[in-house]
Amino acid sequence: MPDKYGDSPAAIVVGGGPAGLTAAIALAEGGIPTVLAGKRPTQPDNRTTALLAGSVTALETLGVWELCKGQAAPLKVMRIVDDTGRLWRAPEVKFESSEIDLEAFGYNIENRYLIEALERRAHTLSALRFVEDEVLSVVPDATAITIALKGGQSLRAPLAIGADGRRSLCRAAANIGIDERSCSQVALTVCLQHSRPHHETSTEFHTLTGPFTLVPLPGNRSSLVWVLDPVEADELAGIDNADLAGKIERASHSILGKIEVEPGRGLFPLQVATARRFADKHIALVGEAAHVIPPIGAQGLNLGLRDAATISELAVAAYRGGHDLGGAAVLTNYGRLRRTDVGGRTLVIDMLNRTLLSDFLPVQGARGLGLYLIDRIGPLRRAVMREGVAPATAQPRLMRGEAL
Ligand SMILES: Cc1cc2nc3c(=O)[nH]c(=O)nc-3n(C[C@H](O)[C@H](O)[C@H](O)COP(=O)(O)OP(=O)(O)OC[C@H]3O[C@@H](n4cnc5c(N)ncnc54)[C@H](O)[C@@H]3O)c2cc1C
Repeated sequence: MPDKYGDSPAAIVVGGGPAGLTAAIALAEGGIPTVLAGKRPTQPDNRTTALLAGSVTALETLGVWELCKGQAAPLKVMRIVDDTGRLWRAPEVKFESSEIDLEAFGYNIENRYLIEALERRAHTLSALRFVEDEVLSVVPDATAITIALKGGQSLRAPLAIGADGRRSLCRAAANIGIDERSCSQVALTVCLQHSRPHHETSTEFHTLTGPFTLVPLPGNRSSLVWVLDPVEADELAGIDNADLAGKIERASHSILGKIEVEPGRGLFPLQVATARRFADKHIALVGEAAHVIPPIGAQGLNLGLRDAATISELAVAAYRGGHDLGGAAVLTNYGRLRRTDVGGRTLVIDMLNRTLLSDFLPVQGARGLGLYLIDRIGPLRRAVMREGVAPATAQPRLMRGEAL
């Protein structure tokens, strides 16, 4: 193993969210001396993440999944129900994982359990040092990155991974612009208990303001992501639990029976954003620092984990070969490998969301026809399912179950 880095890290990950933690674990597992510098989020995260099959395999390979799988529920069936009440409504589409020979499309888990498992695994790796602090500045030069922490410490490494979320300091330091658009929609998130079983089925009701999505959790519990217009979201966030439960029961057509709302609600303004480049100046962006998409079809963090797996794979290969971890070869390859996956998914999710909100009849008709064809044509439906779970163009080694 090359030792030219001495006591200093060879990679610094900025941001200890799920994408940053995964990247740090993968780099350290691959033998790269890594520092993860992250500050705790100011708000508790009550969201859940539907991790699709490739992401679960990657977490298994990194020794994380065994630490949290007891808190995850399998997703075996996914239903899309047109609940717009419009004249031209799409037929209900039902995807079953058994149709593509999978036990489950993936697993849904509360973010707090996922983060806890990632942190526990991170603390077991001797090549990984965890610094709980805020990064104040990120300064690239010709050969490396220098990072200043609020506590006064300074770190230097040839590669920095920017996993610092939507308002990324790393992205700004690399002088990378972003194309972004606010969607005038807000997602209200809450976890629920219910009297009827969910049968490991996630149901996405498409409404006039956006999707209302129920995703199974272990037992008779589910998470809800309810996309609303901002005023309505604010109103619902302020009402008491019993009133909110009643509204959820009505909006869900009582498919889960009597609803009880658990403590903790989140409000997330929807946005579509893609960085113009994913890497530059010894900095590679992963997760929401690189791309943000609306919560439809459970794609956001699954993309982020593929970013983390891809940059780690490239960096570990460079490290073992004695090459520059943050050099042009690694960064250019990273951008090339991630562009199609991120660009393609962002386009499809954004289009689905827009067609839902559109009042234009031909657009509604086209959407209905698309879903009708997916429902009726088996090979097309199976191709959509396979692509949704594991993209043909982006299967880094960790997603295939191969250690780095
Ligand atoms: C309602 C909703 C539901 C979703 N559901 C799903 C789903 O089912 N499946 C799915 O795949 N995706 C889903 N997503 C998307 C997913 O939540 C995000 O992709 C994911 O949280 C992004 O993780 P991240 O690590 O990139 O960023 P973040 O979680 O934002 O983490 C960034 C971290 O960086 C830290 N940080 C920031 N600046 C600094 C600094 N200067 N110094 C130190 N630390 C810093 C922050 O404190 C934070 O810990 C959903 C999103 C929403 C809004």
